Amino acid sequence: MDLGGNEAGGSQNVWDFPVYGLAPVWFKTVSTHVRGLGVMLTLIRTLGRVLRTINARHEVIVSAGSIGTPQLLLNSGIGDATELKRLGIPAFHNLPDVGKYFRDHASMTFPYARTAQGALPPLDRAAALQQWQTSKTGPFSDRGIGSHQLLFARIAANSSVWKNHNDPAAGPNVPHMELLPVNADVPGGFNICGALLVIAQPFSSTQTPFVQGEDPFSTFAHVNILGGTVGVRSSNPFDDPLVNPAYLAEQVDLDLYAEAIRLSKKFFTGPNWSTILGAPQYPDPDILSRADWEDAMRNEVSSGIHGVGGAIMSPRGSDYGVVDPDLKVKGLRGLRVVDASVMPHIPDGHTAVPTYIIAERASDLILQDWSLPV
Ligand SMILES: Cc1cc2nc3c(=O)[nH]c(=O)nc-3n(C[C@H](O)[C@H](O)[C@H](O)COP(=O)(O)OP(=O)(O)OC[C@H]3O[C@@H](n4cnc5c(N)ncnc54)[C@H](O)[C@@H]3O)c2cc1C
Repeated sequence: MDLGGNEAGGSQNVWDFPVYGLAPVWFKTVSTHVRGLGVMLTLIRTLGRVLRTINARHEVIVSAGSIGTPQLLLNSGIGDATELKRLGIPAFHNLPDVGKYFRDHASMTFPYARTAQGALPPLDRAAALQQWQTSKTGPFSDRGIGSHQLLFARIAANSSVWKNHNDPAAGPNVPHMELLPVNADVPGGFNICGALLVIAQPFSSTQTPFVQGEDPFSTFAHVNILGGTVGVRSSNPFDDPLVNPAYLAEQVDLDLYAEAIRLSKKFFTGPNWSTILGAPQYPDPDILSRADWEDAMRNEVSSGIHGVGGAIMSPRGSDYGVVDPDLKVKGLRGLRVVDASVMPHIPDGHTAVPTYIIAERASDLILQDWSLPV
């Protein structure tokens, strides 16, 4: 994106704060004074041993994702001032919610043993390669796990789980769980039959309904469930971040998972699977004691690769959150966040399209702010 900035030293190169690739990039100082037409922010970029300061005349847009963005803000001195001080990072702007409210869907594999009849035939790799090269068909046209379906489902309205919990789904037709049937051999002879995600997550009890006609970006609920966190372990921006996704943190997460496993079991015990699938290899809530099952689940679940939050949006003037509805960092001029980290709640579905929507909205806001031609 060319914001028409210029580099320190006066050359007229396009401002190129890279939001691509894996190059560790950070900015150390953010100054908010007005210079010329707009706000000047100072970036210090370290790439290998090169250290450069890049000045942006209009604004800086951070799009490093729900882990990268909070990490970058914290290393830049934007975060909880007390915590930053403890880490030896000079606090530039006290914003305690940077790195808070990180959410991800928990995911587990759902393996069954194979019957002899269900064994996958050995793959003739040379023939498969030739088939791919001549007709772009065959085993190599698949990404290798035979996963072409996504099944979304709701836990039944008469499930006993609702005796203890309110329905956390965002609406009456919104799924609680997602099952991805896959067909892959893994060492040990298991057939990974599915990946199972519980995608409905506890919502704030103080959520405000969306009022028609209001800007949806300003009507998000106050979140009172903290979720996970993204932090930094030192003042060195090249250190790996500290991520606590807080999977299964709430009792409802576990209870929904038990129901989701029962529903998936029902699917895989259908008649079409009986000749292919043998014994289940996942923690079964109907076989293990509750304590053993919970232990097994805590070892089993991992990322649903849908991390959001960490720099969440909240209404202007509120006492929590990181960015305002125009995606600008609260209390600063010239710094905007445009990525999944601004989502205050995790969607009950995949996260790429919601991120595109934020990016589309951001492009309108930026055009509007700078009176740029469409
Ligand atoms: C393996 C995988 C599969 C997925 N599949 C799906 C799917 O099928 N459907 C779906 O809806 N969602 C899917 N998702 C989720 C989806 O990709 C994300 O929700 C979405 O990409 C988030 O967009 P983002 O812009 O916030 O972050 P990202 O897309 O992660 O972009 C952030 C970028 O910033 C870069 N970066 C980070 N730190 C720095 C730094 N300090 N300096 C410079 N650059 C930096 C990163 O390298 C990255 O390129 C998947 C995620 C993963 C990991």
